[in-house]
Amino acid sequence: MRPLILFIACLTAFTAFAQKSKTATITPNKKAVIQSVDSHTTEMTGISDKIWAAAETAFNESQSSKLLADYAEANGFKVERGVAEMPTAFVASFGSGKPVIGILGEFDALPGLSQKTSPVKDPVNVGQPGHGCGHNLFGTASLGAAIAIKELIAQGKLKGTIKFFGTPAEEKFFGKLWMARAGLFNDLDVCMDWHPGAETKPAVQTGLALVDFIVEFNGQAAHAAADPWNGRSASDALELYANGINYYREHVKPTVRIHYHIQDGGQVVNVVPDYSRIWVRVRDSKREGVNVVYERVMKMAEGAAIMANVEHKISLVSGIYEVLVNRTGAGYMQKNLELLGPNTYTPEEITFAKKIQESTGKEQVGLYSKVEPMDETLENSGGGSTDVGDVSWIVPTIRLSAATAPIGTPWHSWAVVACGGMSIGHKGMTQASKLLAMTMIDLFEDPAKVEAVKADYRKNRGDAPYKAMIPDGPPPLPK
Ligand SMILES: [Zn+2]
Repeated sequence: MRPLILFIACLTAFTAFAQKSKTATITPNKKAVIQSVDSHTTEMTGISDKIWAAAETAFNESQSSKLLADYAEANGFKVERGVAEMPTAFVASFGSGKPVIGILGEFDALPGLSQKTSPVKDPVNVGQPGHGCGHNLFGTASLGAAIAIKELIAQGKLKGTIKFFGTPAEEKFFGKLWMARAGLFNDLDVCMDWHPGAETKPAVQTGLALVDFIVEFNGQAAHAAADPWNGRSASDALELYANGINYYREHVKPTVRIHYHIQDGGQVVNVVPDYSRIWVRVRDSKREGVNVVYERVMKMAEGAAIMANVEHKISLVSGIYEVLVNRTGAGYMQKNLELLGPNTYTPEEITFAKKIQESTGKEQVGLYSKVEPMDETLENSGGGSTDVGDVSWIVPTIRLSAATAPIGTPWHSWAVVACGGMSIGHKGMTQASKLLAMTMIDLFEDPAKVEAVKADYRKNRGDAPYKAMIPDGPPPLPK
């Protein structure tokens, strides 16, 4: 054979082999969950769009939670509503015995981000909430994956238990903390999770631990001009406190972030304010780092109160752990992503994406549509925080990011809301649902894989005790 012919013959044989081994690896159960998600796509899209339109914020998610819980119930799950003292939290279970695999689903929106499914900023109702983090897709995709697994358990093709967790208030109070304190994750072998993003890949970065607390200053009101010497100003204390924090920024490690939101700085100009209130958030890449900064900024509040001659009170809101990454589990997810392949987009979707990029001042590169090797896990990944961190300290947690918005989209913005209510978001949702279900198949079918994921978790986690960082008593539900 001439070299070129030989080369072509070899290439043909190799391609045939590669295709055969690829189809051989999509097992019947994995095919079945892909088909299940496809068959539920219309219903899932309908639920996601309703949650998108309702756009309910932390602990107000009554319609969103009900949509998902009702759908779980209609699909044969046993649903326990109002768990962990939160009316919008629920657990939907199916099956019995081991393994017990959990999957998380969020559904809360963000204030002020109302937006139509338009590639330019155009609110439905100015100032009203919107799904700027894609949680309408998040909860729905996870439930779709749980249903796909349930169907195989019901058919006797898998053995074990699947549990979907409807987890409220991720954006403000971190609802999973109360579920963690109630022990709801304790019986899981492995927990699955995903989040909408601009790329589809296993999520292998840790995020930041944080603590949230409120400082209130109480002084003495007086006429601001007639007898200010009788006044002890709570807003003086607040300003001194904020100044202290801002000087302190120079002396913290580069991984630390400190934010505050002045919630009450006095009401009128002619009264020495007797009350002020500030919400403070401290973050660092590790929980221990957060604790150091937390102690220090609490002392500063005391110092500010002494200087202004007022009283102060500190109230813990909640605190979350950094995520423990499980690279073994992420590796299974990666293999499934390679099997499933990337999402593809229509010319209309690509045009929409580029318009979004134009509107937000980003390079017009369109959408993520490829499969890349798994990312390295960075020691300090930066980024945001999630209450999934706490779950990952209780049980090994495998995480995914799926593209629901164009590359470079500013997160927690109107642009994410726009994409989450149309086909770009819907495609990310079904892709996530399939990948989560396929990876759960690996766990249900192979106890050795569950053990490998657990071994990775034990090595990463160490022996430090886990304790949900929340005050005693019920969660801060709206009055
Ligand atoms: Zn989110």
